[in-house]
Amino acid sequence: MNSLDATNHRDISLSVCPKAIQALMVTVPGTSKPMCKICGFTSKLKTTIKRHVIAKHTDIRYPCQLCPKRMSREGTRVIHYKQVHGVILSIPQIRKMMKEENISNSCPTN
Ligand SMILES: [Zn+2]
Ligand SMILES: [Zn+2]
Repeated sequence: MNSLDATNHRDISLSVCPKAIQALMVTVPGTSKPMCKICGFTSKLKTTIKRHVIAKHTDIRYPCQLCPKRMSREGTRVIHYKQVHGVILSIPQIRKMMKEENISNSCPTN
């Protein structure tokens, strides 16, 4: 790690390079079943592994813009917006909104 702003790192949503997440998503040897490289967690769905890697092995959190709460899953955030704030937004809509708030998901080494 050669991050210059290591102290802020944990507060920035999606601050981990998407390629780093991809690197943690491997397949069970001899099969095409996706698997977490770190703990061996498997699922039929690649998206489940991705969610798992983000939730368990990274500091990525999905912040709510309306309150200080941060969720470990995007799906949880959608539910949070709906239930807590009565705002119905889809994941892409929330992402777009977050981008406008200068939250980067770009790869810092790029
Ligand atoms: Zn894992
Ligand atoms: Zn909230």
